[in-house]
Order: sequence, then structure tokens, then C-alpha cells
Amino acid sequence: MKKYSKWGVALVLFITLSLFSLPISMAEDWQSVADTTVQLFIKYLSIDTTNPPGNVSEAAEFLHQMLQKEGISSELIWTDKKTGRVNVLARLEGNGDKPPLLMLNHMDTVPVDRSGWSVDPFKGIKNNGYIYGRGALDMKNFGIVQLMSMILLKRNNVPLERDVFFLAVADEETSGALGSGWIAKNKWQDIEAEYVLDEGGFGTQGFFVDKDKLIFSVGVAEKQVLWLKLQVEGTSGHGSMPPPENANFILAQAMNRVALHQTPIQITPVVKEMKRRLGVLDDTPYNNALLRNTISLTVLKGYVGNPPKSNVIPGKAEAVLDCRLLPGQNSDDFVKQLEKIIDDPRVKLEYIERPVESIVSPYETELFQVIETETKALFPNSETVPTLVIYGTDSRFYRRRGASCYGFFPGPVSMEEYRTIHGNDERIRESSLRSAVRIYYNVVKSFCESMPNTR
Ligand SMILES: [Zn+2]
Repeated sequence: MKKYSKWGVALVLFITLSLFSLPISMAEDWQSVADTTVQLFIKYLSIDTTNPPGNVSEAAEFLHQMLQKEGISSELIWTDKKTGRVNVLARLEGNGDKPPLLMLNHMDTVPVDRSGWSVDPFKGIKNNGYIYGRGALDMKNFGIVQLMSMILLKRNNVPLERDVFFLAVADEETSGALGSGWIAKNKWQDIEAEYVLDEGGFGTQGFFVDKDKLIFSVGVAEKQVLWLKLQVEGTSGHGSMPPPENANFILAQAMNRVALHQTPIQITPVVKEMKRRLGVLDDTPYNNALLRNTISLTVLKGYVGNPPKSNVIPGKAEAVLDCRLLPGQNSDDFVKQLEKIIDDPRVKLEYIERPVESIVSPYETELFQVIETETKALFPNSETVPTLVIYGTDSRFYRRRGASCYGFFPGPVSMEEYRTIHGNDERIRESSLRSAVRIYYNVVKSFCESMPNTR
């Protein structure tokens, strides 16, 4: 992990703040708003927030300073000084007529395998219409677009009928315990948002239908995460004299039965609504995950020695299954079903991660409609649909506190680009970021602005 001196941080901030030259009145100058968004985004991508170790202190300082410079009240909430876990909470005050809106983003990212990248992942490199960097889609793009929305609301003196909060958290890519988990437990009484805008949706291309048609998905619920460890004990010994109980063979046969099993299609209410709006869901890997409980074999281990010995039969074999369950699926029933498929008492199952109940946020709401209206204003041929997020997000903490959470990024992202999330050459189309800032701001403004003359 790179160590930055105080002066280093100050210099970066000085350069950033001098670059940041928005006109005072921003009413319709989207060109310059988008230019500034790109500049800030490149700076933000250049701050390494890899988790583990999960030190986000420099990123937090960057956001905090930007907010304070604009006269927006912002605080740093430390949850672990030793590892640099800190959260940024900023607030624009409304007249209190309505409950608050919270814009949420996480500052940390997953690690990179530099050997697979064509550019430096921590420089914010612009190339061929793209901006490259770890976090470009997950989710530093959201962070900067939300930051810009705060700044624009403040600069344009938009009167608000509800408080607008900006929250950048640490720790999302590990457990979330020292980020959103901590905030939802210890700080929620100061926020009490009715709505949370989080990650989980994009202006998708090629996710739900084969064609390039632009479909803005808004995540309203997520699948439940269930991780199971499977263990088999057998007879160890010399590879030259096979015993009847080889742990690897027993486990491999069990895994083969799991691989051949096709979980049934289940149409949840959210997917039913997607079908109603889109007419059809094509046969894509993404839709497959939307329609059924899925099982991935992610770890398989059974050997002795390092490097593994070819002539030693191990006494133990181990596997991990990453199962993602649809909302409403009882996990105990699912595990019982899995045990039936494995059909071998020598394979012992153990929970690594037990699922928490998946709550579905309502989507027949004014905010959902505003999202639809504002995306269609810029992309008239697009569709907007509620969707089920197939991975886990921090929204689960806030749904449990009663907030309605929407995962929403209003810029186009193709399936090819989406696959770079957590992978090599993570990148966003520059044009996507530029349109996203405009729509995001319009959504928040339109939803939160108080209109005295219409009362
Ligand atoms: Zn994320």
C-alpha cells in the first residue's frame, strides 16, 4: 500500500481544486458540468482504495474537501483508524416537508491483477472513448456523479422540500460492517431517509434482450447470498494402491450431480414486471440468474503438499458452493433440496454465509416515475424497468431500516463493459459518465425541489 505524506495529499487536493472551475451559475451548461465530472473522476480513480486492505482515508479526504469547499456541511466518520476505514456524510438541508433522500456510494474497490490490465489501473487513463481504472463502474462513477449532484444543487441554490444526504462508505467489498453496516446501526437516527439511491442498475445494453436496445434497470431487491462449505473425509495413502474411499472421487461425484441439476425457473413479481414492460427476456446469462436460484462451484481443494503431491491420496476434500437465492426462497428448504441432490451422507455441509431475508422495495412510486421521466428525456427510445440485483449491495442494510432503495446509474453500459467489473481493464464510456451526471442531477433535483407556486 502506497503511503502518502500530508503534503502529497495537500498537493493533489490543490491541483484538483484548481482544476475545478465551474461557472457560478450552472443552469444549463452541461458541457462544462460534464467536463468537470470527467476531471474529478480521473482524480478519484487515481486514488488507490483496494480492499483488502481497504484504506479509503485519502479518497474520503478528497470528497470531504470538495464538499466543504462548496460550503456543504460534511463530516468524516471514522470506524477504524488503524486500517483507514472512514465514511463521509454530507447534507443539504431541506424545509422538512418530506423525509430525506440519501445518495450512497462505496469508496473501496476489489484488488487488481495487474498482469491482466492493458493500462495502469490507478491512473484514470482515457483511451478510445473510455476511461479506465479500478472502480470505473463499481462504483467511483456513482460517487463522482453523486458528488456533482450535491455541488450543483448547492450552486444553483435549489430550494429543497427534503434533506439530501451524500454518503460515501468504506468496507463494502468485504463485509460492510465498518461502512454501511456501522452507519445503519449507529448513525441512522440522523439520516432516516425515505429513499436510498445506490448501485445495482445501469443503462443496460445486452443484459435482458440480445439487441443493443437501451434498458435502464433500477435495482429494487437483491438475491440472497448463501455460501456453503462441503467436506468429505476418506482414506489417505499411496496413489499406487487406491482405497475404496477416495475423498476426491466422492466429492467429484457429488459435484457432478450438482452440476447436472437444473434449478427450476421461478417468476418473481419483479421479473414479472420486467417481462410486462419489455415483452420478452432473451436467453442471456444475466436473465438466467434472474429467473432461478443459481449454484456456482467456486472452490475445489483436495491434495497434500505444496506443490501438491501427485502420488499422495489426500484424506480430505473440500468444496465451496456460492448459491444465490431468489427473494422469498427459504434457505433451509434450498439446503435440504441440495442434500437430496448430493445424495451422499459422506458429504458434510456447513454454512459459511447464511442469507438474510431479501426485502423488495416498492417501485410504484413517485421517485421511480421521476427516474423514468428523466432518463427518457435524454434517451427517448429507452425503457426503464425495475430489476432484481443478482449480487449483494449495501442496500440490504438500509432496506432493513425501512428505506426504499434503488440501484441506479443513468449511463449506458454494455454487457462487454459490465464484465470488466471486478475483472481486468474495468472501464466506463466517457459519454456514459457525461450523460449520467445530467440525468442523476435532474432526478434528484426534480424529486427534492420544493415548488411553492404549485402548492
Ligand atoms: Zn459495488
